[in-house]
Amino acid sequence: MAHGQLGLFPSNTAAPVIFNLGLGVDSVAMLIGLWRRAARPDLVIFANTGGEKPETIAYLDVISPWLDAVGFPRVHVVTRPVGRAGYTSLEENCLANETLPSLAFGKKGCSLKWKAEAMDHFLLGASRGPNQCAGWPPVIEAIRNGLKPTKLIGYDAGPRDSRRAVNRIEDEHFVYRYPLREWGWDRDRCKQEIASAGLPIPMKSACFFCPASQEHELQWLAQTHPDLFTRSIAMEDRARDGRHGLNAVKGLWGRKARTGAAGDGSWRSWAEAHGLHDLIPPKRARPSTRSPLRIVDDSDDCGDTIGAPSCPL
Ligand code: SF4
Repeated sequence: MAHGQLGLFPSNTAAPVIFNLGLGVDSVAMLIGLWRRAARPDLVIFANTGGEKPETIAYLDVISPWLDAVGFPRVHVVTRPVGRAGYTSLEENCLANETLPSLAFGKKGCSLKWKAEAMDHFLLGASRGPNQCAGWPPVIEAIRNGLKPTKLIGYDAGPRDSRRAVNRIEDEHFVYRYPLREWGWDRDRCKQEIASAGLPIPMKSACFFCPASQEHELQWLAQTHPDLFTRSIAMEDRARDGRHGLNAVKGLWGRKARTGAAGDGSWRSWAEAHGLHDLIPPKRARPSTRSPLRIVDDSDDCGDTIGAPSCPL
């Protein structure tokens, strides 16, 4: 990368620069900002939790020709390696463990597991185990030479992203930079930049069942992807009726519905209140069979993490 042109990495010029792409507004705008500064990242990486909305995945077909046109590397899509449990997505993880993304429990960690760890597995490799791999050579070589690669994180300079507690500068392996903040780009500016580059504005990048979803996003999901909406409620039902139960947490929204939204915090009750009965799966007795997937890790770990494009974006 032409680090000097970016003006961000004067002391780290020999180590690769890794662009964490979330495929939402912020990170797409950050691509455009780099391009305008003639600063080419060495790797553009996107971690797919398996629960991304179809529109987010479809945006890969939008951004790929643009990346080709400006001479940036194509997006490298990674997924969390399949472990002993056998699940290949966050949704499968939740179903297998009869639980919900941990954001529903007020915890943060699923982007750690399904985004950051997936990316770091690709970048840093694994020295043993079934998913043993060598890592990405430029990163491995830099670290071998005592250098820290840089990860570019797409937090914008607006009030919402500025409230994010995570603002790490460095860790054992990587240096972290936040170009949008350094440029002073808030969400509106990001949208302007995307439009001025001739690209469509991407939708918020998040799992279709994300507990951080707003009410209008549930309405959109129910209308646009009724099958995904039904699957979200099925995840809730399985968690509620499963071996752990949900207790104080009522559903994907946690302990209570979003302000102004109907229901008790479960998407099922919200759907009932809105007459979306066709989209609500029939209630079952407590699941009689365990998942065919082997349960190893009972937590699903959902939330933000510095090592990944913070989601939802
Ligand atoms: S925080 Fe939401 S978008 Fe991010 S991994 Fe968890 S469920 Fe998916």
